[in-house]
Amino acid sequence: MKIREVLITPLLVPYAQPYYWSQGVTLGAEVLLIEIRTESEFVGFGECLATPTATGVQAFVEEAAKHITGESIFDRERLMATCYQSLFQFRGNCSAPRFGGQVLAGLEMALWDLQGKVLNRPVYELLGGAQRAYVEYFGFIQGSEPEALAKDATAFVQRGHRTIYCKVGRGDELDFEIVRQVREAVGPDIRLRLDPNEAWDVLSARRMINRLKVFNPEMIEQPCDHRSLSALKQIKDSSPIPIAADQSVFNADDVLQVTQMQAADLITLGLHETGGIGPLMKAADVAKKAGLNICLHGLYETGITTCAAHHAGLAISNLDDANQYMNHLLTADVIASPSLTLSEAKLGPIDAPGLGFELDLDALRQAKARHVEYFSAVNNAP
Ligand SMILES: [Mg+2]
Repeated sequence: MKIREVLITPLLVPYAQPYYWSQGVTLGAEVLLIEIRTESEFVGFGECLATPTATGVQAFVEEAAKHITGESIFDRERLMATCYQSLFQFRGNCSAPRFGGQVLAGLEMALWDLQGKVLNRPVYELLGGAQRAYVEYFGFIQGSEPEALAKDATAFVQRGHRTIYCKVGRGDELDFEIVRQVREAVGPDIRLRLDPNEAWDVLSARRMINRLKVFNPEMIEQPCDHRSLSALKQIKDSSPIPIAADQSVFNADDVLQVTQMQAADLITLGLHETGGIGPLMKAADVAKKAGLNICLHGLYETGITTCAAHHAGLAISNLDDANQYMNHLLTADVIASPSLTLSEAKLGPIDAPGLGFELDLDALRQAKARHVEYFSAVNNAP
């Protein structure tokens, strides 16, 4: 079955409340809806992050689309390799595996959606089948101040979450107070994961880990600059708390380096880093050989990515039992079904063909209009 055309639509879905982390404040999910139309009635959907700008990413996706038009939907790996080589000159002077992964993830996702729809099977079955009956997600707590974060943590625990995930790296005293209040709110038995998002150097990481260990965190994610695996290893080697690599790892090659250096105890990784579902599965396999789990990573995404990542999560044998879920942050998702509401922190298989979601056309129109409106206002600002 041949690809006829690729349509790209910028969307903006605001978050219910601002999301505070060490690199700033995020207000919503800005994405590109990717729609691959075939020569028959089948249509596949995916999404790309629109970071740093929708216009810029869209230009790259349009270039990539030229290389897949007229090709078979089943030639996914060759097509993605061709797109990457053509856009980023893999063996030339513009290798960009990270940005390349982000640009191509939506096309890759849409090809999986199409393949599943044509074969009338859910994507997780095409990935080898479900390894588990559900994927379990951690409670990603929201708020700026310790009191609000502690209150949100309590609510997540009441909804059945066994693991709470909390942003730190916002200043030593604020971090200490956040972790103190969250631990006090959830009690001793809840697993607590902390993410400074690269805010610490080796010395400050050692200082903060020493201060925070009294609250028994289960894991600290990407404490230092992603570019230095030796710094990550230095922190891990001196830390009584396990360390996860997030921004240090975007693909199977990065996983290999981290595992060879023994620089992390867990790998946090998602579709928008790897460039889609296939490369995520390959990266997970590399981690598995080194005895590490994959924790699904979430970004500024809609239910389209939540569904796609969930299929991968069902099929990854070495998936962690606490994964990132971002869907609760959205004010209005662009999918009408399935329900992505968690039950006791868990979500079972999505069994409709392909990625298994139906778009909500009204919500989509609103998200499209919101993007046009917001960015024309920004561009026309004095
Ligand atoms: Mg992280």
